Amino acid sequence: MERVGLFGGSFDPIHNGHLFVANAIAERFELEKIIFLPSAQPPHKETSQLTPSTHRARMVQLAVADTPLFDYSDFDMSRTGPTYTIDTVNHFRKELGESVRLFWIIGADWLAEIHTWKHIDQLADACQIVTAARSKSQELDWSQLRLVLTEEQLIQLESGIVETPLIDASSTNIRQRLRKGLSVQSDLPKPVCDYIEANEIYRPA
Ligand code: ATP
Repeated sequence: MERVGLFGGSFDPIHNGHLFVANAIAERFELEKIIFLPSAQPPHKETSQLTPSTHRARMVQLAVADTPLFDYSDFDMSRTGPTYTIDTVNHFRKELGESVRLFWIIGADWLAEIHTWKHIDQLADACQIVTAARSKSQELDWSQLRLVLTEEQLIQLESGIVETPLIDASSTNIRQRLRKGLSVQSDLPKPVCDYIEANEIYRPA
């Protein structure tokens, strides 16, 4: 393999927006594989409010099972402490070798905060950060990023912004709707929907 995407998140639950974005980015960057990495302890989220890791991991496995392009890794599930992206990328660099190009996938909402990520300068060199944006013209304040990245790294980061059609799904919205007993079928792969129902996750309060 020469071009591999890594897609981390809390995936609470994984939804069609994630899968759509992954497909669009794989096409755009000619990726041979996208590895989904549910995180036990995302650094920027309140862990106590997350659904237990085993459920989130299982839902990701179910969602990617029938797509050869997609894979699942438990690397960000099985380690303790905050799952910093730089550690994940360094792990895959070691595992896959120096010749593989790695792409770290994020949604546009993260781009505004990425200057706060651990060793973002190293991360910018270790992989190509790919941002799924609604529109390239979306205004972004680069001032914070300019403090931590070189001009060359900024150019590379900007080149990784891709326009993906807006899929208006979010895990937060899905959890809220499930708690109200509303249908979420159109936003979730069927096996994930069935798993949520069978295991009574996100039950109405
Ligand atoms: P939550 O609503 O709980 O914050 P989420 O739907 O954003 O969750 P995450 O698991 O946090 O899901 O997302 C993993 C990655 O996928 C993040 O980088 C996020 O920005 C991106 N992402 C999530 N939903 C979409 C979407 N509909 N379109 C584009 N990117 C998305």
